[in-house]
Amino acid sequence: MKTTKLIYFLRKKFPKKNSLKKDYLGLQIGRFKKNTNKIAICLDFNSNVLKKIIHKNVDLVITHHPFIYGDFDNVIQKDWLKKKLVNKIEKLKIPIYSIHTNFDCSDEGMNVILAKKLGLKNIQKIKENKIIRGGTLKYSMTIKNFAKYVKKKLKIPHVYILKNNNKEIKKVAICAGSGADMFQIAQNNNYDIFCSGDAPQHIRNSIKNYKYNYLELFHEIEKVFIYAMKKIINKIDNKIKIYCIDEQRYPEII
Ligand SMILES: [Zn+2]
Repeated sequence: MKTTKLIYFLRKKFPKKNSLKKDYLGLQIGRFKKNTNKIAICLDFNSNVLKKIIHKNVDLVITHHPFIYGDFDNVIQKDWLKKKLVNKIEKLKIPIYSIHTNFDCSDEGMNVILAKKLGLKNIQKIKENKIIRGGTLKYSMTIKNFAKYVKKKLKIPHVYILKNNNKEIKKVAICAGSGADMFQIAQNNNYDIFCSGDAPQHIRNSIKNYKYNYLELFHEIEKVFIYAMKKIINKIDNKIKIYCIDEQRYPEII
């Protein structure tokens, strides 16, 4: 299909104005080809992904996380491995395009997909925030049972919980990725628990001080992007060949 048509469609569906501030989405490197018939989709572009696609003649790589997060020169100056990868991909002339927080904030995007997988009802945005989604479980449960429920529903090997009150869990707010510092927004909107990721110790401590409940989802949960994007693109044109490169593994807990 004509690349201009594909990109027009994606930009319309996931407009830049819906992204969070200071994001680096869009074309990361290279130039679009005139036609795009083979696409690889991944969470992050890295040498593993390159190995898997190198002989597949793809016209475009779509990532969720921006390959160049920040000023181009700065990024490759700080990361020699990335610099090597940039050189390789420039030689191969494969463009990399990222759909990031414009996907996370969308009603067809990350947090709605995860909320649906959790079986939440009445999924909605939170007034002052465009990325978090909240909803209600069919029945309330203890936080430990909720953690087991999440593992089963999202098919993930582990989560961890911060249980700081004895409330049963019924109203759930979710923001995959590095959203832990937004826990107060969920708390102020009367959600019983906030599910997010990448919580550093000072945030965990703050959650404890506010006597709130939190469930940590590893950031890799965002790999749902790969399969969601495949569906979306194949809806535009089902002849486009899509390679889902799901090479990220959850950390091993010993
Ligand atoms: Zn992320």
